[in-house]
Amino acid sequence: MRLILLGPPGAGKGTQAKSISEKLDICTISTGAMLRAAIRDNTPLGKEAQEYIDKGKLVPDETVVAIVKERLSLPDCEKGYILDGFPRTIAQAEAIDKNGIKIDKVLSLEVDDDVITERLSGRRECKECGATYHILYNPSEKGEKCDKCGGELICRKDDEPETIRNRMKVYHEETEPIKAYYETQGKVVTVKGRDKVEDTQKAVFSALGI
Ligand code: ADP
Ligand code: ADP
Ligand code: ZN
Repeated sequence: MRLILLGPPGAGKGTQAKSISEKLDICTISTGAMLRAAIRDNTPLGKEAQEYIDKGKLVPDETVVAIVKERLSLPDCEKGYILDGFPRTIAQAEAIDKNGIKIDKVLSLEVDDDVITERLSGRRECKECGATYHILYNPSEKGEKCDKCGGELICRKDDEPETIRNRMKVYHEETEPIKAYYETQGKVVTVKGRDKVEDTQKAVFSALGI
């Protein structure tokens, strides 16, 4: 299965990607997570990406396409993959086709704008391993610490209200049109992402036939 997860910030793409990944034993490629790891490691990529991410803007297409191509060339992607947060522009979607990267399905996870602020303002991320939590809907068993690695849980800088507004605007302008792009290829399945994590997961598995 070669799958794209499409949806606004906070739709639950990362959360659902994890379940699909475990169920199908395929890797998840999250461009956001890769960029944040580069920022943590203070690499040249991280330095370039940080100013865009902190403002809620998109990192340039060429940069993101290059890291995805490199990641997809690793052997663990041969069995299949989930692209989480990529493509985010029509130009990125076209780059997928131009580079001969195969996509079987596009799962569009849909939630209204009102849900998003609540999801993002309660989101916490482990500073060490990047695991995602929610203070109400998916709390860590260790409270303020990551239950996987004991790391400190922090708010992502781009989950602040003003940056959320920018990201929503960018989403509607640049990313939403991708759905129509893949509809013309007949690849889109749509799932409502408003329900609880477990109920959404059931709907996702059923829509994917897995
Ligand atoms: P979310 O999970 O909230 O949708 P991500 O973790 O996917 O956010 O992305 C966080 C930020 O990283 C984005 O706001 C953007 O600045 C950058 N980013 C991630 N993926 C891409 C991409 N495919 N193209 C451009 N920028 C990206
Ligand atoms: P995305 O990758 O689309 O930005 P995440 O998977 O990071 O979204 O989810 C955003 C936040 O909402 C996280 O804190 C996550 O724990 C929480 N969350 C994800 N799915 C649900 C859901 N179905 N119901 C409630 N909270 C959710
Ligand atoms: Zn952790």
